[in-house]
Amino acid sequence: MKRFDIVIAGGGITGLSLALTLKRVLRGALSVCLIESHAGRDDDRAFAFSAGSRRLLQALGVWDAIEPDAQPIHDMVITDSRLDDPVRPVFLTFGGEAAHGESFAHMIPEQAVTNSLQEAIRHSGIEIFKGEALRSKPEAGGTVVTLADGTVIKASLLLACDGAKSRLRDDAGIGWIHWAYKQSGIVATIGIEREHGGRAEEHFLPSGPFAVLPLTGNRFTMVWTEATDRVRSLLARDDVDLIEEIERRVGLRLGNLKLLSKPRAYPLGFGIARRFGAERLALIGDAAHVIHPIAGQGLNLGLRDVAALAEIIADHAALGLDVGDVSVIEAYERSRRADTVSMSLVTDGMNRLFSNDAMPLRLMRDFGLGVVDRMPRVKGRLIREAAAINGHMPRLMRGETLPGF
Ligand SMILES: Cc1cc2nc3c(=O)[nH]c(=O)nc-3n(C[C@H](O)[C@H](O)[C@H](O)COP(=O)(O)OP(=O)(O)OC[C@H]3O[C@@H](n4cnc5c(N)ncnc54)[C@H](O)[C@@H]3O)c2cc1C
Repeated sequence: MKRFDIVIAGGGITGLSLALTLKRVLRGALSVCLIESHAGRDDDRAFAFSAGSRRLLQALGVWDAIEPDAQPIHDMVITDSRLDDPVRPVFLTFGGEAAHGESFAHMIPEQAVTNSLQEAIRHSGIEIFKGEALRSKPEAGGTVVTLADGTVIKASLLLACDGAKSRLRDDAGIGWIHWAYKQSGIVATIGIEREHGGRAEEHFLPSGPFAVLPLTGNRFTMVWTEATDRVRSLLARDDVDLIEEIERRVGLRLGNLKLLSKPRAYPLGFGIARRFGAERLALIGDAAHVIHPIAGQGLNLGLRDVAALAEIIADHAALGLDVGDVSVIEAYERSRRADTVSMSLVTDGMNRLFSNDAMPLRLMRDFGLGVVDRMPRVKGRLIREAAAINGHMPRLMRGETLPGF
């Protein structure tokens, strides 16, 4: 039997970041290992990383390697119209910086972030196991995780970063409140002729938001929210037909469009765990919460879990306390519940409000957007919220250091 103080299950961006953060804050005082069930990841999405998440990546020492692939978002326009309307009227624009010279968000390909984190993990001395982590009942002083190849790991604390379908969450009997949106997000990388200037666009259409998110070079990533029952026939079309459909939604402002990756559909849903932990177990990232990508915040929420949990564990370890103690799980739950619930409800409400063609609702929301557009202070607040570096954020997201950094 192998023994570690902390075992992390799941090597997505959340699990990798958590392993590196803990390695730094614990300064070798406690041992950490990571288990990942899949040999390779083939996610060709790009994600919006808030300024707070970027600061975490910087603190972890991986930002310099990621930066060449990171496109700063300078401003954002929001339109609201029907698909066949001849123009997409702009109801809200906002732009600005999180701090002097620091963009409020960057678009970064998943692969660039994962590769840099994996490289840092390889040099960190964190032991990595391959296989699906299964948990036996917690026993005195620890919890036991087994892998299919017979490896048995005993640890004080198990951190489940195993994604939305978390088996560790279900096996621990933690309830999962969830529903499907009957929408899918079709994602692809699109080549363009003209420069995007770092501008993101969100076109609210009756089937859901269509996001144009700038990437480095003359490219953008699209997140096209569409009714799930239409997705199969859309994806069966040839490239020329699909590009025509995309042009109907975004227009020709960026010149001719070209598909640079095969479009892929992700069914969209909502989910939140009734508790963020159980005996000697904490849920982090999508294992604890899944939200609509309308505001590009799901992973950012997970990285805030990482930064908050690392602070709590570091404090307990510094006092020589058991990091698997119930007080760690309770402190983590307290620190993350409000932010998670409010972001989940806001994104759910936005999707319901905007993926709707009823005329009175349309008039009301466009009036609301128009009012906000004339309120610079409110827009400034929106930017600061999107940047996620406010005082109530974990210290690493605010750019502060912790012992070990
Ligand atoms: C269309 C779309 C666009 C999005 N855009 C954005 C965006 O712009 N910004 C943003 O912040 N968020 C965005 N999100 C949300 C984001 O994709 C997720 O929040 C994020 O990927 C979750 O990361 P994770 O590490 O928690 O989980 P995952 O990425 O699901 O990783 C879980 C890992 O655990 C492994 N695993 C599973 N079970 C086990 C086990 N038992 N043992 C060991 N390993 C296991 C899996 O192989 C996987 O590698 C978007 C989502 C969608 C659908």
